[in-house]
Amino acid sequence: MSTDPNCIFCKIINKKIPAKIIHEDEHAIAFEDLNPQAPVHTLIVPKKHIADIHSMTITDRELIGHLFFIAKRIASDKGLDRGGYRMVINNGLDAGQTVFHLHLHLLSGRIFSWPPG
Ligand code: 5GP
Ligand code: ZN
Repeated sequence: MSTDPNCIFCKIINKKIPAKIIHEDEHAIAFEDLNPQAPVHTLIVPKKHIADIHSMTITDRELIGHLFFIAKRIASDKGLDRGGYRMVINNGLDAGQTVFHLHLHLLSGRIFSWPPG
């Protein structure tokens, strides 16, 4: 499994720093965002260190799909499908990415505007 000792999310995956983990399996982990931007703000993260969506390879396709499937299951568990939810992947500095370990944001519990800021 590809890991980066300097990466904050790899440290969470390897239990070097704490997080409020709500799902974990062989390939991915989901935990609550430290600085939530909505009443529900969960991050779904592959255990493999992939810097961003642009760095994914053909072999990562199933893994990325897995992240969305976990997000959907968390949304079901939390009853988010009634009002709706937003899923976001920031790719690169201009898009607002700050942690360069690929992650899917699951946001819900308020009304979101469009276009995004
Ligand atoms: P990005 O801006 O890269 O799309 O999202 C990174 C997210 O990770 C931000 O929403 C930020 O609040 C969250 N984050 C950064 N460091 C930590 C941490 O140590 N623990 C947790 N739980 N979330 C973090
Ligand atoms: Zn990492």
